[in-house]
Amino acid sequence: MDGLAVDGAVEVAAVEVAKIPEPIRKRDKSGRLTEAYILSRHPNVVPESLRWNHEAGKQAVTIECANCGAEREVFTSDLFQVRLCAACTKAARKSRAKAMKAAAKAAIATKVEAVAEIAEIAQS
Ligand SMILES: [Zn+2]
Repeated sequence: MDGLAVDGAVEVAAVEVAKIPEPIRKRDKSGRLTEAYILSRHPNVVPESLRWNHEAGKQAVTIECANCGAEREVFTSDLFQVRLCAACTKAARKSRAKAMKAAAKAAIATKVEAVAEIAEIAQS
């Protein structure tokens, strides 16, 4: 290896070291999640909304609904599965059920058609 290649490698290494961001602390000294960590994982969380819910004994935040932008309180333990406000969740559930019902109906119709076709072939 000549001197030039070594110089190039050193330069690349220096750039990579400079690019490493400051590590985000996941939990504070009392074991609670830090806001920086939550915000890095969940961009829909309203900044400075991290609080302690005394009734539940859990950490909670405010999120902005991914659909309508309405605010909703969510326990940090549920953040991974909550993206919508209560109204949009209900509406999404309803439309999903409707779509599944329609799909089931279509599947039955296809089967009925197939059976009718088979019966027709058998008769001819
Ligand atoms: Zn909504």
